[in-house]
Amino acid sequence: PAARRRTAGARLPLRSGLEGLEPYGAPQLDVPVLLNVNENPYPPSQAVVEDIADAVAKAAGGLNRYPDRDFAELRAELAEYLRVESGVTLSAGEIWAANGSNEVMLHLLQAYGGPGRAALSFAPTYSMYPEYARDTITEWITGRREEDFTLDVTHALDQIAAHRPSVILLASPNNPTGTALPLETVESIADAARDGGPIGPDGAPTAAVVVVDEAYGEFRRDGTPSALTLLERHPHLAVARTMSKAFGMAGLRLGYLAAAPALIDHLRIVRLPYHLSAVTQAAALAALRHREELMQQVASLREERDGLVTWLRDRGLRVADSDANFVLFGVFPHRDQVWNGLLERGVLVREVGPAGWLRASVGTPEETAAFKAALEEVLGS
Ligand code: PMP
Repeated sequence: PAARRRTAGARLPLRSGLEGLEPYGAPQLDVPVLLNVNENPYPPSQAVVEDIADAVAKAAGGLNRYPDRDFAELRAELAEYLRVESGVTLSAGEIWAANGSNEVMLHLLQAYGGPGRAALSFAPTYSMYPEYARDTITEWITGRREEDFTLDVTHALDQIAAHRPSVILLASPNNPTGTALPLETVESIADAARDGGPIGPDGAPTAAVVVVDEAYGEFRRDGTPSALTLLERHPHLAVARTMSKAFGMAGLRLGYLAAAPALIDHLRIVRLPYHLSAVTQAAALAALRHREELMQQVASLREERDGLVTWLRDRGLRVADSDANFVLFGVFPHRDQVWNGLLERGVLVREVGPAGWLRASVGTPEETAAFKAALEEVLGS
């Protein structure tokens, strides 16, 4: 009632196109088995918790000052992490970070999108992408993925030629399907994008910035290399990563990307000053010191995922090949009934993706067992 009183008599000038829209986000329900937002099911160990607490306490003593605006130490440590994880050597100047990879990608759209420009992606894909476009007044264009959720290169190149986008968003592994793109696909798109962007003021074509969103990159199966290996040859390529998934730090809000320093200079223009708090920087640095321990969980989650894919297929269900920490399975004539049946049994999954499919994150072995038992009951098998 207080809020109503304050707005009574005033018509707030909400931007056209935002009327009636709901804020993005999955339901946050209090359910025993949470498999709906692709989190890492393992909380940080006591050692990690203590190290973060110490680092934050130290940072707290200096909170009267603004944080390091360019977060030099964190960028160096993220570069070192990528070197160990992917074998690609990068300098601190080739790393950018923000509060989640969502914010990193918003920075990309703020720098390269805008009125009269277009962003291109291929559906089904991550449902936040159109929101970055909407919020930066960028036209949103979706090409398609094939029936098996792979990307047809000819179709992708046709879309680039037809629309001359300034940004191309490629999730690999893709959410919600789990599909990783072969490196050759990314290369073909990057080659076409080199002069496939908007026509510049001088009449010559500019590049389209190609964003490979590797939020789930660490979960990729053997033989699927990271697009980080392509950075050297493509100055208009950006590879986004996050500490939210493999690193098990979704609550920290730390996402980052690797790209050429000239591209990162553009992102520095649009970021808010001091966007990464001293507390965030300290906690992220402390967590990164434990990377070996945290990365060990990735191996067991990948195994758990492969086991789950096999189990679902053995039950006659369709399952998309997954390089991520979740599986997309179906196809159900009434997926809402399956979703509800699982929820009634204490298991929350996500109703997302093409009609008939559901997505479940890979949990602990106990959570996977609970999911399987609930699904068997719901499907009556
Ligand atoms: N990209 C993809 C494909 C995602 O699924 C997510 C999270 N669901 C993100 C980016 C954003 O993650 P964060 O902001 O936590 O880094």
